[in-house]
Amino acid sequence: MMSTPSAGNTLKICDKTILPGKRVTIDLPISPLYTRTPMSIPVHVINGKKAGPVLLVCAAVHGDEINGVETIRRLLKMRGVNHLRGTLIAVPVVNIFGFIYHSRYLPDRRDLNHTFPGSKTGSMAARISHIFVSEILNQCTHGIDFHTGGMHRTYLPQLHANLRHKETLQLARAFGVPVLLDVRDQDNSLRDIANKNKIPFLVFEGGEALRLDELSIRAGLKGILNVMRELGMLKKSSPSFNSRAEPFIARSSVWVRTNHSGLFLSPTALGHRVLKNQVLASIADPINGTESIVYAPTKGIIIGCNHLPLVNEGEALFQIAKFEKSKKVLAQVKEFHTTHLEDETPTEWDV
Ligand SMILES: [Zn+2]
Repeated sequence: MMSTPSAGNTLKICDKTILPGKRVTIDLPISPLYTRTPMSIPVHVINGKKAGPVLLVCAAVHGDEINGVETIRRLLKMRGVNHLRGTLIAVPVVNIFGFIYHSRYLPDRRDLNHTFPGSKTGSMAARISHIFVSEILNQCTHGIDFHTGGMHRTYLPQLHANLRHKETLQLARAFGVPVLLDVRDQDNSLRDIANKNKIPFLVFEGGEALRLDELSIRAGLKGILNVMRELGMLKKSSPSFNSRAEPFIARSSVWVRTNHSGLFLSPTALGHRVLKNQVLASIADPINGTESIVYAPTKGIIIGCNHLPLVNEGEALFQIAKFEKSKKVLAQVKEFHTTHLEDETPTEWDV
């Protein structure tokens, strides 16, 4: 990416030059199907007339996680993004294969999000990672990757990021969700390789696989706009979404697992505050009718939740995040729910 303060950014993706002021869609070529059907990852580039940050927003790196796909679709419909400073690179579906087959994985059964930065001659997943990193990520100055919980597992809208990195923390705070998790795993994920390349990078988690969750979609969309405003890509005077939540950083989190198999019965839900040794659920044996109780191992806020009522011993039921001030987090989570579900995000605006 080349830029001068007045002329705007000029990018090159797959040998195509994108000049300042241009909006284009480029197909990133990946392995064709064995039917000879060509496959590609569509990449939208909105290049502002003025130079500035290059922000990547992407979704469905896990092909069955679709909230982010809808978040990016709504973002690209907004007129205001055509007048940005810098560049927005939006990739609504990274794992095209998984998206077609409603699967988290690729046809080679690999998890794309553990294969970055990939290689030109490696596995199918490694090759997709390689082209994505070399053609897209390496041109970006900042990034946000949209995920959801897995099958039958839902997340409260939250951010995972390396919060010890100053600029990453600043963007995470600007995004506007109440729960932030400091994550620094070296797991060959897109976030991991972005961190290694010194690109401030946020991972949004919200809702569950193969479902659209309106709260998560709205929170994600507002989050992107808030980050763009923070980076100076949108004017600070553009309509503000005053539902930006006060963020709290979790000290750590723990998954609570069941020690019995049976029917999972629980009054506890996402966003609830729980105390240590509080009853979280009962696991009822559907044959002999006995019940066993699941207690909270710690106090905190429920940020992840299983909602398939049939569980086997060892399965995860709840994720509890530990905070210094869990009462304040609870108040913030409640307000966040109310404001995001009442407050309609404008789909058109001028910036
Ligand atoms: Zn995911």
